[in-house]
Amino acid sequence: MFENLTEKLQRAFKHLRGQGTLTEENIQEAMREIRVALLEADVNLNVVKELIDHIRDKAVGAEVMTALSPSEQVIKIVRDELIALLGKDTARFKFAPQPPTVILMAGLQGSGKTTTTGKLAAWLKKGGHRPILVSVDVYRPAAREQLKVVAKSIDAKIYEGDLKGEQPGSKLVERLANEARREARNFGFDTLIVDTAGRLHVDEELMTEMEQLKKLLNPQEILFVADAMTGQDAVNSAQDFHKRLGLTGVVLTKMDGDARGGAALSIRHVTGQPIKFIGTGEKPDAFEPFHPDRIVGRILG
Ligand code: GDP
Repeated sequence: MFENLTEKLQRAFKHLRGQGTLTEENIQEAMREIRVALLEADVNLNVVKELIDHIRDKAVGAEVMTALSPSEQVIKIVRDELIALLGKDTARFKFAPQPPTVILMAGLQGSGKTTTTGKLAAWLKKGGHRPILVSVDVYRPAAREQLKVVAKSIDAKIYEGDLKGEQPGSKLVERLANEARREARNFGFDTLIVDTAGRLHVDEELMTEMEQLKKLLNPQEILFVADAMTGQDAVNSAQDFHKRLGLTGVVLTKMDGDARGGAALSIRHVTGQPIKFIGTGEKPDAFEPFHPDRIVGRILG
């Protein structure tokens, strides 16, 4: 990811090398190249516009700086603006003052939600927590089975519950969620991660169910799992989920793939919610908190 963007940005900076000072003309030329590089990386159009405006304003105002060469000045400005776009600092993970902390995992089918639920549990365990997992996808037995396999692979506790042949629907979802929370309280698990049903598209039924779960569980974190490979679709669905649910953060998966990186660079700005973690592979440990400065360092090469 980002290889193309890195290459194009470097080309833009290179054109500034050998210039004595930043002039209106060479700034315009660099901005044009940076704009094209961002658009080709599939960054959201509004995000590109705003970013370029900020960079241009700063570059024009930076003319008097003499300690740095023109290309160094522009690189620094681009770095600062990209970091600001991604939210500056690593977003904190919120824990409940009184355990259990409840984490609701949201996302479309195939985004990596179940895998991420396991990764998050492994990350919490590493940090000294005692997570318990539950899948409330009562519509797809395979999904519940998958979480069981994931939990086993990281040696995490799962609350399976007994469906008792009950009709799949919101009543059953709420019963399972309630039971899992009780299990967490009774047996000293300090974090409950709820893997929810995914759909191929955002639909009313899914949103209503998520709203009900939010009301019932009052989660500290509602994390939207988005597949970075799907580009602007990931950004749009994150926005839809945020409007209905009020997300607390995003997990961008498949950052190890060959996506162009536009989703990673747009999602924070479009939803207003921070990327809290990224998934970088299929294995449980291919997961890390998102550090804006590190990603920008990688982009700028
Ligand atoms: P769900 O339907 O949203 O629960 O998605 P799954 O957790 O089943 O993941 C769908 C596919 O994406 C699986 O094959 C996962 O192994 C894969 N996957 C999930 N996260 C990542 C990631 O960060 N990188 C890569 N390469 N694959 C991932």
